[in-house]
Amino acid sequence: MVFEYAPAPESRSVVEIKPSYGLFIDGEFVDAAGRFKTANPATEEVLADVGEADASDVDRAVAAARRAYERVWGPMPGRERAKYLYRIARIVQERARELAVLETLDNGKPIRESRDVDLPLVAAHFFYYAGWADKLAYAGFGPDPKPLGVAGQVIPWNFPLLMLAWKIAPALACGNTVVLKPAETTPLTALAFAEICQQADLPPGVVNIVTGAGDTGRALVEHPGVDKVAFTGSTEVGKQIARSVAGSRKRVTLELGGKAANIVFDDAPIDQAVEGIVNGIFFNQGHVCCAGSRLLVQESIADDLLESLKRRMALLRVGDPLDKNTDVGAINSRAQLDRIRALSEVGDAEGAQRWSAPCPLPDRGFWFAPTIFTGVSQAHRIAREEIFGPVLSVLTFRTPAEAVEKANNTPYGLSAGIWSDKGSRILAIADRLRAGVVWANTFNKFDPTSPFGGYKESGYGREGGRHGLEAYLAH
Ligand code: NAD
Repeated sequence: MVFEYAPAPESRSVVEIKPSYGLFIDGEFVDAAGRFKTANPATEEVLADVGEADASDVDRAVAAARRAYERVWGPMPGRERAKYLYRIARIVQERARELAVLETLDNGKPIRESRDVDLPLVAAHFFYYAGWADKLAYAGFGPDPKPLGVAGQVIPWNFPLLMLAWKIAPALACGNTVVLKPAETTPLTALAFAEICQQADLPPGVVNIVTGAGDTGRALVEHPGVDKVAFTGSTEVGKQIARSVAGSRKRVTLELGGKAANIVFDDAPIDQAVEGIVNGIFFNQGHVCCAGSRLLVQESIADDLLESLKRRMALLRVGDPLDKNTDVGAINSRAQLDRIRALSEVGDAEGAQRWSAPCPLPDRGFWFAPTIFTGVSQAHRIAREEIFGPVLSVLTFRTPAEAVEKANNTPYGLSAGIWSDKGSRILAIADRLRAGVVWANTFNKFDPTSPFGGYKESGYGREGGRHGLEAYLAH
């Protein structure tokens, strides 16, 4: 018997969304050349009107960041910079509930995730890098490593505030100043972060936020006054950026797409593996670059495992992201929903079998039921291309060697998962996987002390941990 839950909505009243926002440049909110709207993907309700920065706005922001770098932040001792980072971390914690609700409204992710995953990790990142700010000489990058200057940072919409933290915390800890462009569908938590910078008395110009779409991002990464480019987003745009900065003095890190294999061996604890598979692909609606979007399951247990997986998927609660019982929220935008639908139709056309969880979907907003495709072969597009949605492609294997070969048969190399009772097998397989992160008997676990990044077309450079400092230091 399945019990129905009563609705448990989180209150919206903790958030005050202004009708319109400007750009955050030199410590103040200023007008932008253009305007655009940001909406709640769960209801299609417009949330706010936001400034769209053009090249001259970006130029102002870069100039402010340069002044702040040369006059204040660059020369400031690390122990003083650390105080600001600690202050920001504490304000994030104090305002965590408000920021979680705002993130859920603008992004569509379940409040349970924004509250329990995104926000604690955002604060943890600032705490962690605050700790490094006065210890850079001991980080292994020379006795007196120097900052690079002005960092131009462009982030995607799947973890808006968390990606901001991944970018801004190490940059500031190392003494760089920042111009950051959030994604066009999720600008609101970055603008709330701008208010936090004011609240923390961060010197003007150290953090600048320019909102806008691809053109704003391009103006930022191509700006001659930017010393370091940090980009998280699609491989396609990453390649464009790599081309545009080639031959310049700019340092670049790229965090791009993925098509991770989640490998389940016949000796794995099945119930735990099923939880891990669900977390791997349905967490954050599958809008996760390191999502376990290819399930590789050993043939002898495939039928049993798929039966358990379907039973578990049928219990996932899809719907109102602000409801604390919701497991799977809204797809972030109509454009992304169209992409997920189109690739799923390709899966049908190529002969894979689709099964979707039998869940009712709301009438308004952007929704896609958790879905698996079985009978997938390596040649299928749904086994090769990133769907970036709640869609799992299932393949089988017979031997460990075949599992490794299939797992590595992808242009990407961001993450992977291994499920087995045998430690020796886990270590042997992990060694042979070309992926930046390999999880064992778990999936999608993050920690600010642990480096994250890709091989091959998943990009280059590492974020997080001691390794994450390297991208922001001249050495
Ligand atoms: P996207 O590349 O279209 O956009 C990402 C950001 O880049 C946005 O802010 C966008 O406005 C900006 N942008 C677009 N065109 C640009 C250009 N020509 N120059 C500069 N900036 C430009 O990607 P998306 O659809 O928003 O995000 C989804 C993708 O991001 C997925 O492929 C996913 O795998 C990837 N991703 C990777 C990681 C990682 O850490 N590796 C993390 C999250 C998302």
